Amino acid sequence: MDKLTANQRRVLEVLQQADAPLGAYAILKETGFRGATQVYRALDRLGDLGFVRKLESLNAFIACSDRGKASPAAFLICDQCGWIRELVDAREIAELQASLGQSDFQVVRAVVELHGICSSCAGRTTHGETVSTFNRSRQV
Ligand SMILES: [Zn+2]
Repeated sequence: MDKLTANQRRVLEVLQQADAPLGAYAILKETGFRGATQVYRALDRLGDLGFVRKLESLNAFIACSDRGKASPAAFLICDQCGWIRELVDAREIAELQASLGQSDFQVVRAVVELHGICSSCAGRTTHGETVSTFNRSRQV
């Protein structure tokens, strides 16, 4: 943490306190920075350091639950309520990383996004097929 600039620390705090991924403009609003450039610059650096990850499909950012170590990550994302959980040290993710290492391909950044319906939304939904898709994703 001590190597971070004040701006980077502020952006990280905002993301850690948020209960959902935030877009750059939501972060801008929370931080009170003058411009989006400051937010993007801080996010770039935090991403490089493994503190935050970008969820491409949502165009939003989330603080890593376990400081990244540039390892592949996977997120479960509920499309109904926005619930998100980061899978850390999931076996399949570790295997994916290992197999990519063997294929002579250097992974710089890997974020897997598994969209579905969370268990709490599933309890209220009648879309059985969608629910079972999510259940398969959950076993990752
Ligand atoms: Zn949900």
